[in-house]
Amino acid sequence: MGYSRASYMKAKEILDKRRMDSEMELEKRRKILFSRSAEAMELERKIARTSINVARAVYNGKDVKSELENLKRQNLETQKKIDQIITKFGFPSNYLERWYKCAECQDTGYVQGRMCSCMKNLIRDFEYERINNSSSLKLCDFDTFSLERYEFEEDRQNMAKTLEYCKKYADEFSISSRSILMMGNSGLGKTHLSLAIAKSAVDKGYGVIYVSASIVCRKMEHEHFHENIDDTERSLAECDLLIFDDLGTEFMTSYIMSTLYTIINKRLITSKPTIISTNYDFDEMRENYDQRIASRILGSYKRIIFTGGDIRVKQAIGGYSKNDKETSNNKEV
Ligand SMILES: [Zn+2]
Repeated sequence: MGYSRASYMKAKEILDKRRMDSEMELEKRRKILFSRSAEAMELERKIARTSINVARAVYNGKDVKSELENLKRQNLETQKKIDQIITKFGFPSNYLERWYKCAECQDTGYVQGRMCSCMKNLIRDFEYERINNSSSLKLCDFDTFSLERYEFEEDRQNMAKTLEYCKKYADEFSISSRSILMMGNSGLGKTHLSLAIAKSAVDKGYGVIYVSASIVCRKMEHEHFHENIDDTERSLAECDLLIFDDLGTEFMTSYIMSTLYTIINKRLITSKPTIISTNYDFDEMRENYDQRIASRILGSYKRIIFTGGDIRVKQAIGGYSKNDKETSNNKEV
């Protein structure tokens, strides 16, 4: 599992608060019971004194084993009396116990060293929130992807295959899935499908970062020159799935160019999947990026062309399908 540290810490904070709340609520219930029954309070004090008696027995060199048995029996009798008082007032039998939100892990987030499902769910919700905050769209489903938006039959058929490919990719997603380059004009569904893949990966417990190229590059530049930290760069290089939306809209500087190369290259070396979407066609990719970046992306990523009424993209597909076997295959994705 590769959730972000921020989501993990938030989930932990919530569990810490749950445990504190349950202790405070228990304290309140005790006060209510004792305000009604002085006897219950006295009985509880008696139990508390037991530990002092145990220590005393050890100190006085008594027969510790039999003394312990004796105190245990006394405690059970006292507890029984308290239970009777609780029932008399009509309180539930666990009135003087902590009421945990998750009985499995008692709100610690772990059961025998393994993360409890309650904590996993909390982290997943924070991951959703984080992705939603950094994207202009909410996390999408494949079900809401409509092929009707494509005017021409040829585009509908191409996009139906693309949709199927993305669904399969999401179903089979793993830490070693292939990287994808989504090309095509705005409004053709690149963001929708990448967000649907993101949702599926998050559901499986993977750490997904979804960023807009222009925003994240500004952030990295700022961090580098003003705060002297490169947290964002490290997260982008290390997360389980990186979705880089709208490559080509960032303000390019030499620092950004080399940082992008480092991130893309690191992820390829460690076989971590990346999904890049861009409005650029092949020529524009080569013109606008360092040759090392363009060749990494164009050479290693699975290319998917989004079509639909944009003459420039159609021309690009026609032009490349003649001499680029992979691209013509992609059209048949
Ligand atoms: Zn739990």
